[in-house]
Amino acid sequence: MTRAYNFNAGPAAIPLEVLEQAQAQFVDYEGAGMALMEMSHRSATYEKVNQEAQDLLRELMNIPDNYKILFLQGGASTQFAMIPMNFLSEGKVGAYVDTGAWAGKAVKEAKITGEAVVVASSKEDNYMRVPQAADIVVPDNAAYVHITSNETIGGVQFKDFPQLANVPLIADMSSDILSRPVDVSKFGMIYAGAQKNLGPSGVTVVIVREDLIADSPKHIATMLRYDTHAKANSLYNTPPSFSVYMVGLVLKWIKAKGGLAALEQFNLDKTKLIYDVIDESNGFYTGCANKEDRSTMNITFRIKDQDEELEKKFIKESEAAGFVGLKGHRDVGGLRASTYNAVPLENCAALAQFMKDFQQRNG
Ligand SMILES: *Cc1c(COP(=O)(O)O)cnc(C)c1O
Repeated sequence: MTRAYNFNAGPAAIPLEVLEQAQAQFVDYEGAGMALMEMSHRSATYEKVNQEAQDLLRELMNIPDNYKILFLQGGASTQFAMIPMNFLSEGKVGAYVDTGAWAGKAVKEAKITGEAVVVASSKEDNYMRVPQAADIVVPDNAAYVHITSNETIGGVQFKDFPQLANVPLIADMSSDILSRPVDVSKFGMIYAGAQKNLGPSGVTVVIVREDLIADSPKHIATMLRYDTHAKANSLYNTPPSFSVYMVGLVLKWIKAKGGLAALEQFNLDKTKLIYDVIDESNGFYTGCANKEDRSTMNITFRIKDQDEELEKKFIKESEAAGFVGLKGHRDVGGLRASTYNAVPLENCAALAQFMKDFQQRNG
């Protein structure tokens, strides 16, 4: 088998070693005579899978003891709704930093449930930068400040996080969780759909400070309350057991790679290969994002004054050469290479070479 050069934005590449291990355990999980997917989620075997994934995540991200780790369903999109439901009590507002498409969806969902205000926005810059911490003005009655640490579609990423005095910071880290070390204690909550950096779709990881979920409002449906899942150790109802198992394997892979500091360097090395081609192309390629805010996960770029014909040609020829997923999101256009943790350095080197060759032929 030849592995594709997979630059998909999500679902996205999963480490080959992880897929192979899952394959080896697929039919007969640890001699049980059945697949993990066929087992009770109340079995000791699954409880171990559930616990080990949590323990590894806690270790890798250095998550303090007063934080709960939850494995939920419904994707990051359901978190857009659960956050205001659980945290916007009477008289409180949700404060949102508007950095693009995903942040916008979070705001929209919060407005269904309660009051939400945008406290900083990069809309005027077409979302091609992230607001500075100093631009964020937090209202006195804010229940939280919500940011999107990496905007998957625009390709911009917070390099430093806003330091807030008395209000919890909540971050949608769907597209850059585990790509670099972060100080979890600076956040009230972090959440991420798994399908970019953590494994397959189907599970959403929530890391939340215990005191924030001590008494979720009683009028919320049981399944949509954080305390339900915290009390049940993410086993209130049937969990997405296979997805959680896969996340556990990805976490083991990250640990074997040397942890988050090593991964951060790995990701910087990978993206440098591609950003350098863009920056040294004499304007043949242009990066969409402001340089300081460029993402190490999603590289967005255009070709020659946004020449759509040439961009189509690039996509077509790249596909013929074994590259997958380079078409930009329709909101931004152009091209996008998603270089998540599981994307090997060699694939980025191959893309950089392809880009240079394409410029030679078409420059
Ligand atoms: C992909 C993505 C989402 C949506 O995730 P779902 O799991 O599909 O709901 C939300 N936020 C960000 C930053 C994303 O990249």
